[in-house]
Amino acid sequence: MFNIKRLSDIQKKTSAYNNFFTVKELKERLIPIEFKDEIPDYCKCGGEYIMTSSFTEAQCVDPYCPYKMAYTLSHFIRHMGFKDFGEEKCKTLVLATYDSFQYPSFLCVFSVDENIIFAKLGQADANNFINIRNTLASTPYRFNKSFPALGIPDFGANCKLLDVIKTPKEIVHLLASGKINDFLDQIGMRAPIYKFYLDVFDITITLLYSTYAPLAIKPGKKELYIAITGNVTLNGISMTRTEFLHACSSLKNSDGEQMYELKESKSKSKLSYVIADAPSASEKYEIGKELNILVTADEFVKILKDNID
Ligand SMILES: [Zn+2]
Repeated sequence: MFNIKRLSDIQKKTSAYNNFFTVKELKERLIPIEFKDEIPDYCKCGGEYIMTSSFTEAQCVDPYCPYKMAYTLSHFIRHMGFKDFGEEKCKTLVLATYDSFQYPSFLCVFSVDENIIFAKLGQADANNFINIRNTLASTPYRFNKSFPALGIPDFGANCKLLDVIKTPKEIVHLLASGKINDFLDQIGMRAPIYKFYLDVFDITITLLYSTYAPLAIKPGKKELYIAITGNVTLNGISMTRTEFLHACSSLKNSDGEQMYELKESKSKSKLSYVIADAPSASEKYEIGKELNILVTADEFVKILKDNID
Protein backbone atom coordinates (compact mmCIF):
# COMPACT_ATOMS: atom_id res chain seq x y z
CA MET A 1 0.00 0.00 0.00
CA PHE A 2 2.79 2.37 0.89
CA ASN A 3 4.32 4.36 -1.96
CA ILE A 4 1.82 4.04 -4.78
CA LYS A 5 2.85 6.40 -7.56
CA ARG A 6 0.72 5.29 -10.50
CA LEU A 7 -3.03 5.27 -11.00
CA SER A 8 -2.90 1.84 -12.63
CA ASP A 9 -1.38 0.42 -9.43
CA ILE A 10 -4.08 1.77 -7.15
CA GLN A 11 -6.79 0.66 -9.58
CA LYS A 12 -5.51 -2.89 -9.22
CA LYS A 13 -6.12 -2.69 -5.47
CA THR A 14 -9.54 -1.07 -5.30
CA SER A 15 -12.46 -0.28 -7.55
CA ALA A 16 -12.76 3.05 -5.71
CA TYR A 17 -10.60 4.67 -8.40
CA ASN A 18 -12.32 3.18 -11.43
CA ASN A 19 -13.60 6.51 -12.71
CA PHE A 20 -10.33 8.38 -12.24
CA PHE A 21 -7.86 9.39 -14.93
CA THR A 22 -4.35 10.75 -14.69
CA VAL A 23 -4.16 14.48 -15.30
CA LYS A 24 -1.61 13.75 -18.01
CA GLU A 25 -4.06 11.48 -19.82
CA LEU A 26 -6.91 13.98 -19.51
CA LYS A 27 -4.76 16.72 -20.96
CA GLU A 28 -3.89 14.52 -23.93
CA ARG A 29 -7.48 13.44 -24.54
CA LEU A 30 -9.35 16.65 -23.92
CA ILE A 31 -7.30 19.37 -25.57
CA PRO A 32 -7.77 22.23 -25.13
CA ILE A 33 -8.46 22.37 -21.44
CA GLU A 34 -7.96 25.49 -19.48
CA PHE A 35 -5.94 24.00 -16.68
CA LYS A 36 -3.38 22.57 -19.06
CA ASP A 37 -0.56 24.64 -17.64
CA GLU A 38 -1.99 25.13 -14.18
CA ILE A 39 -2.05 21.57 -12.92
CA PRO A 40 1.17 19.60 -13.18
CA ASP A 41 1.15 15.97 -14.29
CA TYR A 42 2.97 14.78 -11.20
CA CYS A 43 3.00 15.62 -7.51
CA LYS A 44 6.32 16.74 -6.06
CA CYS A 45 6.50 13.31 -4.41
CA GLY A 46 6.60 11.72 -7.88
CA GLY A 47 3.05 10.37 -7.77
CA GLU A 48 0.73 10.91 -10.70
CA TYR A 49 -1.91 13.61 -10.31
CA ILE A 50 -5.36 12.18 -10.86
CA MET A 51 -8.92 13.42 -11.18
CA THR A 52 -12.25 12.21 -12.47
CA SER A 53 -13.43 13.13 -15.95
CA SER A 54 -15.86 15.57 -14.32
CA PHE A 55 -12.81 17.56 -13.20
CA THR A 56 -12.96 17.05 -9.48
CA GLU A 57 -10.01 18.57 -7.68
CA ALA A 58 -6.73 17.04 -8.79
CA GLN A 59 -4.97 14.94 -6.18
CA CYS A 60 -1.79 12.94 -5.82
CA VAL A 61 -2.45 9.24 -6.37
CA ASP A 62 -0.32 8.16 -3.40
CA PRO A 63 -2.55 7.76 -0.32
CA TYR A 64 0.55 8.28 1.82
CA CYS A 65 2.03 11.16 -0.14
CA PRO A 66 4.14 13.30 2.24
CA TYR A 67 2.59 16.49 0.87
CA LYS A 68 -0.87 15.10 1.62
CA MET A 69 0.34 14.04 5.07
CA ALA A 70 1.53 17.58 5.75
CA TYR A 71 -1.84 18.95 4.71
CA THR A 72 -3.68 16.40 6.87
CA LEU A 73 -1.46 17.23 9.83
CA SER A 74 -2.34 20.92 9.57
CA HIS A 75 -6.04 20.03 9.28
CA PHE A 76 -5.71 17.86 12.38
CA ILE A 77 -3.88 20.48 14.44
CA ARG A 78 -6.39 23.17 13.51
CA HIS A 79 -9.42 20.99 14.22
CA MET A 80 -8.10 19.92 17.59
CA GLY A 81 -8.15 23.58 18.52
CA PHE A 82 -4.46 24.58 18.31
CA LYS A 83 -3.25 27.80 16.79
CA ASP A 84 -0.09 29.16 15.21
CA PHE A 85 1.03 25.91 13.66
CA GLY A 86 -0.15 26.12 10.08
CA GLU A 87 0.37 24.27 6.84
CA GLU A 88 3.84 25.60 6.02
CA LYS A 89 5.23 24.50 9.38
CA CYS A 90 3.56 21.12 9.01
CA LYS A 91 5.14 20.78 5.58
CA THR A 92 8.58 21.62 6.89
CA LEU A 93 8.29 19.07 9.65
CA VAL A 94 6.69 16.23 7.66
CA LEU A 95 8.98 16.54 4.63
CA ALA A 96 12.05 16.57 6.87
CA THR A 97 11.04 13.53 8.90
CA TYR A 98 8.61 11.22 7.10
CA ASP A 99 11.37 8.87 5.93
CA SER A 100 11.79 7.93 9.58
CA PHE A 101 8.09 7.28 10.28
CA GLN A 102 7.53 3.85 11.74
CA TYR A 103 4.04 3.66 10.25
CA PRO A 104 2.48 5.28 7.19
CA SER A 105 0.67 7.91 9.25
CA PHE A 106 1.03 11.65 9.62
CA LEU A 107 0.64 11.17 13.38
CA CYS A 108 4.13 9.63 13.49
CA VAL A 109 5.42 13.17 13.35
CA PHE A 110 4.55 13.32 17.07
CA SER A 111 7.13 10.58 17.73
CA VAL A 112 10.01 12.43 16.10
CA ASP A 113 12.95 13.01 18.44
CA GLU A 114 12.81 16.43 20.13
CA ASN A 115 16.32 17.37 19.01
CA ILE A 116 15.30 16.89 15.39
CA ILE A 117 12.14 18.95 15.92
CA PHE A 118 14.20 21.82 17.34
CA ALA A 119 16.72 21.54 14.52
CA LYS A 120 14.05 21.63 11.81
CA LEU A 121 11.64 24.17 13.27
CA GLY A 122 13.60 26.50 15.51
CA GLN A 123 12.94 27.20 19.17
CA ALA A 124 9.51 28.88 19.19
CA ASP A 125 7.77 26.61 16.68
CA ALA A 126 9.34 23.51 18.21
CA ASN A 127 8.10 24.50 21.66
CA ASN A 128 4.64 25.10 20.24
CA PHE A 129 4.67 21.70 18.52
CA ILE A 130 5.83 19.88 21.64
CA ASN A 131 3.13 21.64 23.62
CA ILE A 132 0.54 20.42 21.08
CA ARG A 133 1.85 16.87 21.45
CA ASN A 134 1.73 16.98 25.24
CA THR A 135 -1.74 18.51 25.30
CA LEU A 136 -3.04 15.79 22.96
CA ALA A 137 -1.66 13.13 25.26
CA SER A 138 -3.16 14.56 28.43
CA THR A 139 -6.53 15.97 27.33
CA PRO A 140 -9.71 13.93 27.12
CA TYR A 141 -11.29 14.61 23.73
CA ARG A 142 -14.72 13.70 22.56
CA PHE A 143 -14.80 11.08 19.83
CA ASN A 144 -17.07 13.25 17.69
CA LYS A 145 -14.45 15.98 17.70
CA SER A 146 -11.26 13.98 17.33
CA PHE A 147 -12.36 11.57 14.59
CA PRO A 148 -13.30 14.24 12.00
CA ALA A 149 -10.02 15.99 12.85
CA LEU A 150 -8.17 13.11 11.15
CA GLY A 151 -9.30 14.54 7.83
CA ILE A 152 -10.34 11.21 6.33
CA PRO A 153 -12.07 12.06 3.05
CA ASP A 154 -15.83 11.38 3.27
CA PHE A 155 -15.61 10.87 7.05
CA GLY A 156 -16.36 14.38 8.27
CA ALA A 157 -18.41 15.47 11.26
CA ASN A 158 -21.70 14.60 9.54
CA CYS A 159 -20.81 11.10 8.36
CA LYS A 160 -23.09 8.23 9.24
CA LEU A 161 -20.36 6.40 11.10
CA LEU A 162 -20.34 9.04 13.82
CA ASP A 163 -24.09 8.66 14.30
CA VAL A 164 -23.66 4.99 15.03
CA ILE A 165 -20.30 4.72 16.77
CA LYS A 166 -19.96 6.62 20.01
CA THR A 167 -16.52 5.71 21.33
CA PRO A 168 -13.02 5.33 19.86
CA LYS A 169 -12.83 1.85 21.36
CA GLU A 170 -15.62 0.64 19.08
CA ILE A 171 -13.97 1.73 15.85
CA VAL A 172 -10.52 0.51 16.89
CA HIS A 173 -12.07 -2.87 17.66
CA LEU A 174 -13.90 -3.00 14.31
CA LEU A 175 -10.64 -2.22 12.49
CA ALA A 176 -8.56 -4.69 14.48
CA SER A 177 -11.07 -7.52 14.13
CA GLY A 178 -11.47 -7.04 10.38
CA LYS A 179 -15.19 -6.42 10.78
CA ILE A 180 -15.16 -2.82 9.58
CA ASN A 181 -16.25 -3.52 5.99
CA ASP A 182 -19.25 -5.58 7.07
CA PHE A 183 -20.09 -2.83 9.51
CA LEU A 184 -19.93 -0.15 6.79
CA ASP A 185 -22.28 -2.27 4.67
CA GLN A 186 -24.70 -2.56 7.58
CA ILE A 187 -24.92 1.18 8.09
CA GLY A 188 -25.31 1.86 4.37
CA MET A 189 -21.80 3.18 3.63
CA ARG A 190 -21.35 0.64 0.85
CA ALA A 191 -19.25 2.49 -1.72
CA PRO A 192 -15.75 1.03 -2.16
CA ILE A 193 -14.22 4.44 -1.50
CA TYR A 194 -15.35 4.33 2.16
CA LYS A 195 -13.67 0.98 2.71
CA PHE A 196 -10.58 2.16 0.91
CA TYR A 197 -10.18 5.29 3.01
CA LEU A 198 -10.68 3.48 6.29
CA ASP A 199 -8.10 0.93 5.15
CA VAL A 200 -5.65 3.75 4.37
CA PHE A 201 -6.33 5.44 7.72
CA ASP A 202 -6.59 2.23 9.78
CA ILE A 203 -3.17 2.74 11.37
CA THR A 204 -3.77 6.45 11.93
CA ILE A 205 -7.09 5.86 13.72
CA THR A 206 -5.54 3.21 15.93
CA LEU A 207 -2.47 5.32 16.68
CA LEU A 208 -4.55 8.33 17.61
CA TYR A 209 -6.64 6.53 20.19
CA SER A 210 -3.92 4.22 21.52
CA THR A 211 -0.92 6.52 21.58
CA TYR A 212 -1.27 10.19 20.70
CA ALA A 213 -4.67 11.20 22.12
CA PRO A 214 -5.55 8.16 24.23
CA LEU A 215 -7.98 9.87 26.61
CA ALA A 216 -11.53 9.95 25.38
CA ILE A 217 -14.57 11.49 26.95
CA LYS A 218 -17.48 9.16 26.80
CA PRO A 219 -20.64 10.85 25.69
CA GLY A 220 -22.82 11.52 28.65
CA LYS A 221 -23.55 14.16 31.17
CA LYS A 222 -20.79 16.05 32.87
CA GLU A 223 -21.42 16.51 36.58
CA LEU A 224 -20.87 20.03 37.81
CA TYR A 225 -21.28 21.41 41.32
CA ILE A 226 -22.49 24.98 41.57
CA ALA A 227 -24.03 27.36 44.05
CA ILE A 228 -26.59 30.01 43.13
CA THR A 229 -27.03 33.16 45.16
CA GLY A 230 -30.05 35.40 45.06
CA ASN A 231 -32.18 35.88 41.97
CA VAL A 232 -30.62 35.30 38.57
CA THR A 233 -31.35 36.75 35.18
CA LEU A 234 -30.65 34.91 31.98
CA ASN A 235 -30.77 36.86 28.70
CA GLY A 236 -32.76 39.51 30.50
CA ILE A 237 -35.31 37.08 31.93
CA SER A 238 -35.54 36.73 35.69
CA MET A 239 -35.55 33.11 36.87
CA THR A 240 -35.96 31.05 40.00
CA ARG A 241 -33.08 28.74 40.94
CA THR A 242 -35.02 25.73 39.70
CA GLU A 243 -35.77 27.37 36.37
CA PHE A 244 -32.13 28.35 35.97
CA LEU A 245 -30.89 24.85 36.76
CA HIS A 246 -33.38 23.45 34.28
CA ALA A 247 -32.24 25.87 31.58
CA CYS A 248 -28.59 24.85 32.09
CA SER A 249 -29.32 21.14 32.26
CA SER A 250 -31.24 21.18 29.01
CA LEU A 251 -28.22 22.33 26.96
CA LYS A 252 -27.47 19.74 24.31
CA ASN A 253 -24.66 19.11 21.86
CA SER A 254 -25.14 18.75 18.10
CA ASP A 255 -25.97 15.06 18.59
CA GLY A 256 -28.83 15.98 20.90
CA GLU A 257 -27.01 14.61 23.94
CA GLN A 258 -27.63 16.32 27.26
CA MET A 259 -24.30 17.76 28.32
CA TYR A 260 -24.50 18.73 31.97
CA GLU A 261 -25.87 17.49 35.21
CA LEU A 262 -25.80 20.38 37.65
CA LYS A 263 -25.82 19.85 41.38
CA GLU A 264 -26.09 22.47 44.05
CA SER A 265 -23.47 22.40 46.75
CA LYS A 266 -21.80 24.55 49.38
CA SER A 267 -18.71 22.38 49.61
CA LYS A 268 -15.54 24.32 48.85
CA SER A 269 -13.81 21.19 47.57
CA LYS A 270 -16.56 20.38 45.09
CA LEU A 271 -17.75 23.74 43.81
CA SER A 272 -16.80 24.74 40.25
CA TYR A 273 -18.79 28.00 40.10
CA VAL A 274 -20.84 30.31 42.27
CA ILE A 275 -23.49 32.08 40.24
CA ALA A 276 -24.25 35.58 41.46
CA ASP A 277 -25.72 38.41 39.45
CA ALA A 278 -25.16 40.84 42.33
CA PRO A 279 -23.02 40.92 45.47
CA SER A 280 -24.69 39.68 48.63
CA ALA A 281 -23.88 38.89 52.24
CA SER A 282 -24.55 35.18 51.77
CA GLU A 283 -22.09 32.47 52.71
CA LYS A 284 -22.19 31.16 49.14
CA TYR A 285 -21.18 34.56 47.79
CA GLU A 286 -18.25 34.70 50.22
CA ILE A 287 -17.08 31.23 49.13
CA GLY A 288 -17.31 32.26 45.49
CA LYS A 289 -15.25 35.34 46.19
CA GLU A 290 -12.67 33.43 48.20
CA LEU A 291 -12.23 30.75 45.50
CA ASN A 292 -12.43 33.29 42.68
CA ILE A 293 -15.21 31.35 40.98
CA LEU A 294 -17.93 34.00 40.90
CA VAL A 295 -19.76 34.34 37.58
CA THR A 296 -23.03 35.88 36.48
CA ALA A 297 -25.81 33.66 35.17
CA ASP A 298 -25.18 34.79 31.59
CA GLU A 299 -21.44 34.18 31.94
CA PHE A 300 -22.04 30.73 33.36
CA VAL A 301 -24.29 29.67 30.49
CA LYS A 302 -21.73 30.99 28.01
CA ILE A 303 -19.04 28.85 29.68
CA LEU A 304 -21.30 25.81 29.44
CA LYS A 305 -22.05 26.49 25.78
CA ASP A 306 -18.39 27.10 24.92
CA ASN A 307 -17.53 23.69 26.30
CA ILE A 308 -19.94 21.86 24.08
CA ASP A 309 -18.24 20.36 21.04
ZN1 LIG B 1 2.32 13.20 -3.74
